[in-house]
Amino acid sequence: MKLSSWGRLSDDNYPATVLSREIGNQQLTPSDNGETSIVYGMGRSYGDVCLNPGGGVYLSNGLDRLCSFDATSGELICEAGVLLKDIQTLFSAKGWMLPVTPGTQYVTVGGAVANDVHGKNHHSHGCFSSHINWIRLARTDREDFVCSPTKEASWFNATTGGLGLTGIIKEVSLNLRRVSSCWLDTETLTYSSLAEFSQISKDSEDDWEYTVSWIDCNSRKHNRGIFIRANHSQSGAESTPTKSRLRVPLVPPLSLVNRMTLTAFNQAYFLSQKQKSGMGKSHYQSYFYPLDGILDWNRMYGPKGFYQYQLVVPYESGMPAIKAILHEIAVSGQGSFLSVLKTFGDAPSPGLLSFPMEGLTLALDFPNRGDITLQLFRRIDAIVAEAGGRLYPAKDARMPAELFTAGYPHLPEFLLYRDPGLSSGFSKRVMGW
Ligand SMILES: Cc1cc2nc3c(=O)[nH]c(=O)nc-3n(C[C@H](O)[C@H](O)[C@H](O)COP(=O)(O)OP(=O)(O)OC[C@H]3O[C@@H](n4cnc5c(N)ncnc54)[C@H](O)[C@@H]3O)c2cc1C
Repeated sequence: MKLSSWGRLSDDNYPATVLSREIGNQQLTPSDNGETSIVYGMGRSYGDVCLNPGGGVYLSNGLDRLCSFDATSGELICEAGVLLKDIQTLFSAKGWMLPVTPGTQYVTVGGAVANDVHGKNHHSHGCFSSHINWIRLARTDREDFVCSPTKEASWFNATTGGLGLTGIIKEVSLNLRRVSSCWLDTETLTYSSLAEFSQISKDSEDDWEYTVSWIDCNSRKHNRGIFIRANHSQSGAESTPTKSRLRVPLVPPLSLVNRMTLTAFNQAYFLSQKQKSGMGKSHYQSYFYPLDGILDWNRMYGPKGFYQYQLVVPYESGMPAIKAILHEIAVSGQGSFLSVLKTFGDAPSPGLLSFPMEGLTLALDFPNRGDITLQLFRRIDAIVAEAGGRLYPAKDARMPAELFTAGYPHLPEFLLYRDPGLSSGFSKRVMGW
């Protein structure tokens, strides 16, 4: 089966096995030639955590059942291939939603656990794994078992954010939360420096559940951006937004994202958002998932695909590092289309390899221009390392092993929990197998 991840940097053929509830560890045992596999959810990771060149893949779309829901406590038990989109659509109509959601809803529950995803409310609600009661895990060397923050807790900590390498997540129990409305009261503000961004972030933390900002990384003059904060509305829903039918229909022969379009886009986006400054109302779908409005938008980067680069740096060393990185990018002329700057709060992540830590996180998209892009990344890597930061494996396709090892101090402990039958392009690159 031909598969690629969201960055479309490669497109390989894999032997694929569809997972089901009934599949046991015997059927998961790796082939005689020692080839390993990795679970592929929706392939919404940008790089190679869900790919396995030279090996096989397990497809989680066979694990698609909602098993039970407790309308008093909000506990939802479901299989790992269920989409966040289906949970949001079904339960938001009843006043329940996911407590943490990433910027796309085309993600499986298993993928959300394995990357321990974060959302725009990290400062108030932590990571996805903070809301999980238990996980049913299947391994190639052991019968299915359940792990939780209190039972087999070390397996739980290795599996949340464990990049699919500790076993196959079959079933998950998670807590949904009650919300007053599917609509959000928003406030849009502009900022023209990182100091201003920092002040707005601080001022927003206590009173606003969701915060996010877009930053113009093409300008050498300013670090200007748009900050949007939001809370669930107290008033009930009005209408539901009409569904978008926009789609990038094909892969253009060349990337549509280049220096000229980037500058024009960033300028136009800044001005259009500036006009919207002030209070507003937004449906959760457009506030949480603005990019889902255009299906297959990743095709616009053309046949060579694109990289995403997401970093986090601690507060103390953070601002100078972010400033230096933005400068490197502006000077290189390889600016990013959609650059997101936000803060992570101090909620600890249970996952040994969870990405979030208290500090500043910046996510950037770059068209793949080959060596020139990789050279830029090496310069940014050095700034991240110097600042004591790390990169997000879910977004990565090229980080060197040393940067990963330096950024994830629990790696040696994590390695004790790896499943011998599972590996990915990412694990081979940064862990050796
Ligand atoms: C537009 C966009 C916006 C995004 N915004 C955010 C964001 O705001 N925050 C954030 O944290 N992430 C974000 N992401 C990244 C995305 O949320 C993660 O990469 C997510 O894990 C993808 O889930 P998936 O189902 O597509 O899994 P895949 O990408 O297919 O796989 C991801 C990992 O999960 C493992 N996995 C999947 N299913 C299982 C299973 N059943 N058992 C064991 N392992 C499994 C895979 O092996 C792999 O290691 C965004 C991605 C896109 C495209």
